[in-house]
Amino acid sequence: MTLLDIVNNSRRIVFFGGAGVSTESGIPDFRGQDGLYRMKYAVPPETIISASYFHAHPEEFFRFYRDKMLALNAQPNAAHKKLAQWERAGKLLAVVTQNIDGLHQAAGSRRVYELHGSVHRNHCLACKKSYPASFIVRSSGVPRCSCGGIVKPDVVLYEEPLDGEVIEGALAAIASADTLIVAGTSLTVYPAASFVSYFRGENLVLINRDPTPLDGQCTLVLHEKVGQVLGALPSYLPEDTP
Ligand code: NAD
Repeated sequence: MTLLDIVNNSRRIVFFGGAGVSTESGIPDFRGQDGLYRMKYAVPPETIISASYFHAHPEEFFRFYRDKMLALNAQPNAAHKKLAQWERAGKLLAVVTQNIDGLHQAAGSRRVYELHGSVHRNHCLACKKSYPASFIVRSSGVPRCSCGGIVKPDVVLYEEPLDGEVIEGALAAIASADTLIVAGTSLTVYPAASFVSYFRGENLVLINRDPTPLDGQCTLVLHEKVGQVLGALPSYLPEDTP
């Protein structure tokens, strides 16, 4: 069966994605061939983006964060756009993403479960005041609130728990899907990677450049670029029907 056959016959698709979904938008992933983990840092990236490092070395954290994790000029690619169209066409229930870049919403997706938070939300650790991502970009060193508190991005750092409501929504969506498309993720970051095991539907599809631990359990595995693969599929919107 081809991916086109599967998508044609599905009515409740859920998409589970990771950093590889945004590489075609110019944002590097962590573990892919050009990923951040292949670059040499004095302190490993996993350490820098941990809660303990954030609190002990906020200056260094924000230097790395502004340089490598904030990509506010990036635009949605063909994968983000096609998923938003499928939701509008009534074919896709939800996107569950490990990404923090907000590109699914920028493409028009509405039901997006951001397991690891978003660079677009930031708040003061002292008074809870909210700030946009542009505030972090414009500030230098450790961004400070008008009250003097540190402004922290609402991204889930290593050692921090995921949000309970987001977990609940994501698992309910995955459990009610007829097709789960897993893409652009090495499936090595937990607990997010374990969410795939809640799928009870018919077709488990994997689109990932490199092999993953899930390859052997899938209905269909494509070691290809997710933007190219999804971009070639129909939108199912009436206005796009030839
Ligand atoms: P990962 O870096 O561990 O793995 C990415 C996977 O995507 C790799 O296996 C790679 O082969 C594959 N890939 C890369 N480009 C692809 C493409 N165009 N098409 C198909 N596959 C492609 O990513 P992960 O599993 O998401 O874990 C990394 C963690 O880092 C996540 O928690 C995520 O929050 C965070 N992160 C987010 C962003 C972002 O928001 N854009 C970027 C980097 C890292």
